[in-house]
Amino acid sequence: MTEETTKVAVVRCERISEACAGYGCLTAFNDRKVKFKDMDDAELVGFFTCGGCPGRRVKRLVKKLQSKDRAPNVIHLSSCMLYGEDMNYIECPSLDEIEDMISSMGIEVVRGTHH
Ligand code: SF4
Repeated sequence: MTEETTKVAVVRCERISEACAGYGCLTAFNDRKVKFKDMDDAELVGFFTCGGCPGRRVKRLVKKLQSKDRAPNVIHLSSCMLYGEDMNYIECPSLDEIEDMISSMGIEVVRGTHH
């Protein structure tokens, strides 16, 4: 991979992660499906949970990733943060704040991974 590749990280819901090993997000990335389609040049450089409500670990981990040679230029908010009980998820009450915080750090935010 070259320096021009898209560097992708995924943040996901801490609460949902108790029952999720990340298969859906990672399969979508590896197969370049749904929210990762048309990202042939991408590499995954981070995959982390929010740290619990209200996303207390996000800023710290994004900063840590930004300090790396392969810092992310796109961060996806996992699908489990976007949907509610009808999808067996918990609709994240802090979604807008988490998105704004990551954006304010100069990183593009995409909502969703595998749905
Ligand atoms: S509901 Fe939102 S803030 Fe709370 S643990 Fe899940 S993703 Fe994190």
